[in-house]
Amino acid sequence: MKEYKPESTSFIEISREAYAGNLRFLKKTFGSNVQFSSVVKGNAYGHSIPEFVPMAEAEGVRHFSVFSADEAWQVLQAIREDSGIMIMGSIFDDALEWAVVNRIEIVVFEPERLKKLLIVAKKTGIPARIHIELETGMNRTGFTKDTLRMMLPLLRENDGNWILEGLCTHYAGAESIANYLRVKQQIKTFRQMAKWLQKQGLVALRHHTACSAAALTYPETVMDMVRIGIAQYGYWPTRETFMHHFLKNPDAGDPLKRVLSWKTHVMSTKEVAPGEFIGYGTSYLAGIPTKVAAIPVGYAQGFTRKLSNLGRVLVGGERTSVIGAINMNMMLVDITETPEVKRGDEVVLIGEQNQKEISVSSFSELSQNLNYETLVRLPDNIPRRIVG
Ligand SMILES: *Cc1c(COP(=O)(O)O)cnc(C)c1O
Repeated sequence: MKEYKPESTSFIEISREAYAGNLRFLKKTFGSNVQFSSVVKGNAYGHSIPEFVPMAEAEGVRHFSVFSADEAWQVLQAIREDSGIMIMGSIFDDALEWAVVNRIEIVVFEPERLKKLLIVAKKTGIPARIHIELETGMNRTGFTKDTLRMMLPLLRENDGNWILEGLCTHYAGAESIANYLRVKQQIKTFRQMAKWLQKQGLVALRHHTACSAAALTYPETVMDMVRIGIAQYGYWPTRETFMHHFLKNPDAGDPLKRVLSWKTHVMSTKEVAPGEFIGYGTSYLAGIPTKVAAIPVGYAQGFTRKLSNLGRVLVGGERTSVIGAINMNMMLVDITETPEVKRGDEVVLIGEQNQKEISVSSFSELSQNLNYETLVRLPDNIPRRIVG
């Protein structure tokens, strides 16, 4: 019996059908000649790189973007096709040779990284695949024109040791109209800098600037490739982004379907007499005869304690409330209205049951997190299962 491994107390379902539908919508929106880079940083926004990446490849995705070298390593283990991998952010000097040898594309935004990459390329005889990030107004990372001008001689000397896979930038808040002027200015600056670089003889294989929000609200940002994170998983970056789409397509409904659901089971049930406190402390007093169900998920599993006395779950086909404090590994929910609920019944923490839904955004609003944050906080050790 040594091989037996007990199941985790909850699991996450990844819907292949929902993902395929989202890809169809996004590809139709951007056009078939635009490369789709699937952004899988943050463990594929909580969907899990080892499960999500092969599914995405099976649905036709051939390019993945990550933040860091360790995430690129995970994607490299997961891919089965000849897909491209791009590191947008962090890579330590020690990892540069590994990246070059494995033909991983690297976004460069400061001289040191570029210099070290060229040294590695020379040594290994394999050209470094670089994307040059331009500073257009976000003031986070990216080369200014002056720094780039200083890099030009180095690039010319090293001709053959690099492939300019892309020119790119990132917008400082394309998900809100509040940043409209700043984003418009960034688009203009990007175009001017790209043109100037071209005059210097630096011609990139592709230009890419758009995340989900930019690609869905500023069509001119789409260019040759889009870097799509949140939308492929079935979420609009913000309500504003959805409104932008909705006003143009008022009859079409929501084309994005949530890919992820989070489920568990009822562990036990109990009846509590009126006048009794329920759970730790005195935060919940039963005013009437109350039936509660214990659910084996708590803040250790990523169900935030901020949802004490506030969270909602689906059980017995109904939406019900968390009672008292979220414990480390457990919570109690009110089943007074659905007394037939019993041990072993399915509980939906995020997702649908009986045509009712607990959305990541309702979950996020109650806990005052962004959708993005709620998703990436789902612990890696909850098993992911592909369904559909
Ligand atoms: C995260 C990220 C994206 C994807 O953003 P979404 O809003 O999830 O589509 C694109 N580009 C860069 C540089 C990023 O860091």
